[in-house]
Amino acid sequence: MKFDLVVKNGTIITAADTFQADIGVQGEKITAVAQTIAPDGAKLIEAKGKYVIPGAIDGHTHMEFPFMSTTSADDFHTGTFAAACGGVTTIMDFALQGKGESLMQTARNWHAKADPKVVTDYGLHMIVRDLNDHILAELGEMVQYGIPSFKVFTTYRKEGLLLDDGAIFRVMEEVRKHNGIVGLHCENNDLIETLMAGFLKEKKTSPEYFRKSKPAEVEGEAVQRAIMLARCAGAPMYVVHMSTQYGRNRVWEAQQEGLPVYAETCPHYLVFADEVYQRKDAANFVMSPPIKGAADRAALWAGLANGDISTVASDHCCFTTEQKKMGEDDFTKIPNGVAGTEAILPILFSEGVRKNRISLNLWVRITSYNPAKLFGLYPRKGTLSVGSDADIVVFDPDKKVPMTAKNLHSRIDHSIYEEYTATGWPVATIVRGQVVQENGELKVDKGWGKYIARRPVTESETLSLLVGAAT
Ligand SMILES: [Zn+2]
Repeated sequence: MKFDLVVKNGTIITAADTFQADIGVQGEKITAVAQTIAPDGAKLIEAKGKYVIPGAIDGHTHMEFPFMSTTSADDFHTGTFAAACGGVTTIMDFALQGKGESLMQTARNWHAKADPKVVTDYGLHMIVRDLNDHILAELGEMVQYGIPSFKVFTTYRKEGLLLDDGAIFRVMEEVRKHNGIVGLHCENNDLIETLMAGFLKEKKTSPEYFRKSKPAEVEGEAVQRAIMLARCAGAPMYVVHMSTQYGRNRVWEAQQEGLPVYAETCPHYLVFADEVYQRKDAANFVMSPPIKGAADRAALWAGLANGDISTVASDHCCFTTEQKKMGEDDFTKIPNGVAGTEAILPILFSEGVRKNRISLNLWVRITSYNPAKLFGLYPRKGTLSVGSDADIVVFDPDKKVPMTAKNLHSRIDHSIYEEYTATGWPVATIVRGQVVQENGELKVDKGWGKYIARRPVTESETLSLLVGAAT
């Protein structure tokens, strides 16, 4: 066989296995995994002493996202380049339905923004924020079109994103019929609004009160409610960016009953605790949900190790220092969000694998295999098998990288990881057979990435993730 690209001498890590082998790529696909493959004129990537892993799938990004009277700072080019530098080969970005807009139109709008710019592959989740009978009927069409995952908000009423419980229930019922999955942002809106109004009345306007307006109960209650709605609808569900022990416990209980309830957490909840809201740069840590206490952080790690939390995604939705200043005098006006797509693999490796909280295989399961399974990308993505897309990351387990704004590739001018040095870094990222970044250098033109239509996901397929997930 004549290969276009050969990755040689690396240690291959998948969700299930660890072994020494070479990988042969023809065009966009992996066509051989064997003990020795002769390069024979192919482009050679030497991976001796490195891990070779399936590209990470960042299940949660907001590139050039219109939000809180501004737009997130990374566009689909800078955002996917940062992703690639972090070993992400596919992002799942949130398309936001406009008021009164058809979901197909929303998808088209997102393609128009993303297609000319992306350097990784991308899929879309559809945010349903304006529900009527037409939109309800369109949910099944969206699944057929390749978007089997939807998102609804239990908060952000003032921003026009909130769906009431009845509407959430209707979405769940309809999506279930078509083998899709509903993701939920779980925070109790009334409690948040009441607490925020109280603090503002007392002229308590600093970011510390953003955190205090969103105590752990805000998430715990909304996760519990979401599970009850999903149970009533007989539908699978996915808690996005879970940040609390309450949330984890509710999800775990549901899984013990055999319910198809899944959860995602984010790198920032695994590194920091809420003392960050005392810092001078506290506004940079304003995201929703906010970072909780050290006990919550420990619970999230336990959930990952135990397999009840299935994925880690970034919630990449970043704003410059200038944009964050919109809330200088009022924490409710600070644009909510942080950068993180470049941090997923390094943080989980440095803090997880190196500290023996998770195994190498679980690292790959959380970052690639599980999101591929949950979102209808498997086995095209999420593994390193013959026939899969050649989405391959060469990861140097010893490379130390201070995660400063200067070293990271997002467009923003600050980094919440400014004082953090990761040990272990993706030195090359290959998307469908093409090297996209090598040592932080971009190797492809804008638009190399492709939209990936996904397939529906059956309940038995996703439920298998919860059996023996812990390794
Ligand atoms: Zn988000």
